[in-house]
Amino acid sequence: MAKDRSKNATRKGGNGPTPATKPQGAQARRASGPAGGGGSAPGAGANGQSAAPAAPSVIELPSSLTVRDLGHALGVSPIDVMKKLIGFGIMANINELIDYDTAAIVAAEMGFETREQKAEEEEAPKVAPTQLPSWRDVQDERPENLRPRPPVVTVMGHVDHGKTSLLDAIRNTNVVEGEAGGITQHIGAYQVELQGKKITFLDTPGHEAFTAMRARGAQATDIVVLVVAADDGVQPQTKEAIAHARAAQVPIIVALNKIDKPEANPEVVKRQLADLGLLVEEWGGNVICVPVSAKKRLNIEELLENILLVAEVAELKANPFRPATGVVVESRLDKTRGPVATLLVQRGTLHVGDNLVIGEIAGRVRAMFDDKGRPVSEATPSTPVMILGLSDVPKAGDLFEVVEDERTAKAIAAERAQQRQQAAAVRPARVTLEEVFARMQEGKAKELNIILKADVQGSLEPIESSLQKLGTEDLKVKILHSAIGNIGESDVMLASASSAIVIGFNVSVDAAARALAEQEGVDIRLYNVIYQLVEDVEKALSGMLEPTYKEVVTGHAEVRAVFSISKRGKVAGCYMTDGQVTRASSVRVIRGGQVLFDGKIASLKRFTEDVKEVNAGFEFGIGLEKYDDFQVGDTLEFYKQERV
Ligand code: GDP
Repeated sequence: MAKDRSKNATRKGGNGPTPATKPQGAQARRASGPAGGGGSAPGAGANGQSAAPAAPSVIELPSSLTVRDLGHALGVSPIDVMKKLIGFGIMANINELIDYDTAAIVAAEMGFETREQKAEEEEAPKVAPTQLPSWRDVQDERPENLRPRPPVVTVMGHVDHGKTSLLDAIRNTNVVEGEAGGITQHIGAYQVELQGKKITFLDTPGHEAFTAMRARGAQATDIVVLVVAADDGVQPQTKEAIAHARAAQVPIIVALNKIDKPEANPEVVKRQLADLGLLVEEWGGNVICVPVSAKKRLNIEELLENILLVAEVAELKANPFRPATGVVVESRLDKTRGPVATLLVQRGTLHVGDNLVIGEIAGRVRAMFDDKGRPVSEATPSTPVMILGLSDVPKAGDLFEVVEDERTAKAIAAERAQQRQQAAAVRPARVTLEEVFARMQEGKAKELNIILKADVQGSLEPIESSLQKLGTEDLKVKILHSAIGNIGESDVMLASASSAIVIGFNVSVDAAARALAEQEGVDIRLYNVIYQLVEDVEKALSGMLEPTYKEVVTGHAEVRAVFSISKRGKVAGCYMTDGQVTRASSVRVIRGGQVLFDGKIASLKRFTEDVKEVNAGFEFGIGLEKYDDFQVGDTLEFYKQERV
């Protein structure tokens, strides 16, 4: 098998395999078997490679694998795999896991025969440990490929407690030996060195950036330095920072700042921290607390030493021998240099010349600079670098990955853009208050998104807080937007885009907004009593809200002739006296003020043509489901049910 794997790697040539996002053991391998055969059509040529060995006829696939891995296993572009999946109605992205059965169907469609790997075959290391592969050949994180990497640190804490000062103090006190003259550039992250070991600091303090990155799936931080001013103690944002660090399961080191101040009272702060479950070492806990002064540059080195200590315990490692992946730390459009982005390499090694994709942006690393503004040719894990060569400005928090060539980068970027457009074009599932519960039961809805409009600020606040209290563990109430004023088109747009419902309190709905809501299937609910509003949402959350319907009569017709059609019974020749009938209308047959039948339409025709609707002033033929006892002079009343 090892031989087959290396063949697979060689076959890709060029910049080597794309970074694997696969889970351990999910690698696909070609089974030995008769050469040639099945895979000739799409073949390896789809990757733009020429010297590809002929594909064997049976390809082994693991029980689950990513779209990308399937593409590689088949020797075709992952994009083609995605297209096939879309053909089956499956919108899978390149990193999505699909099961063997799905993979086999796609493979068969492309002319490949596959078989499922047995569980024990999926176990990883097949490459002899002595054979240290070059990074371009490696896709998996095997233990022998892992190397220690510097910790990545984010500084958090309450406003004015000294986060920025501390980041400045660390940056300036620690000028790495032998690189004097390197002027620190503000690129969003920087590295310092102590005892020959590096530490990477993210230069945007605060938990907002940290959490925004996490929301995009980027866990960039290994250690949080919590700055608490010794003269001010624990404050609201201190608590928030602790909550965010805990949510991300990132270890916290406390920097007790401003100890130069006479008012500083470290013991009080330690007590406050203990109350929040952060017990410092000197009190028998395991939280490291370093008293510092950012202003006087006191104990900064001790803080750094402790960061290294925590990092050592965490045994932070990464595989540098693979194409780079990581996260965008900062980005901007430079007037002369074009899009500029600071990337934090998390795995692999980034090189000048590498092709990469960031979200829907493709690019090639034209030039790369370190945090001192010096050109560099490569960047290993935990290294921040500023790069040039992107076609557009990515967003901070976006993930990047190096791919084999420019063509692939562009194709993936284009595919992602197309997928997003397609997803946007698909009409969102109707989100009504009643349906939220149904969707929650199916496990689809995890939160009820609400857009709230009210007449005055004074009513917005109490409504918001009462709604927020209604959320449960399983179903959260999330107010996406709240504002004063009538419900307008933009509110409905936002609701539609985010599967939200719109709630209005003492406001009305613009005509255009109502039309858009109808078209987009957005639920707008109007109230003038807070209690009712809150109760409705509560009922919806607990699944008790029954939809209420009202009947709307859409039109009437008069029966002018009755025709007998053998087999199908009788149909009525009618004249539409007012309104409209559609194929979906419900109908009542009324004779002498008596309703003789109430039911559905079986057929609706004009002359011999089936029609969807007939308007006032026209003649038509109609057949009903389970009723045909028409008489000339009967009135047909058409109606529909409308949700209130
Ligand atoms: P941030 O909002 O947390 O980034 O706080 P800053 O770094 O902007 O600091 C807020 C204020 O506290 C500034 O006026 C700093 O000069 C001051 N400051 C920061 N660190 C210290 C310190 O160690 N000692 C004293 N005395 N003042 C400090």
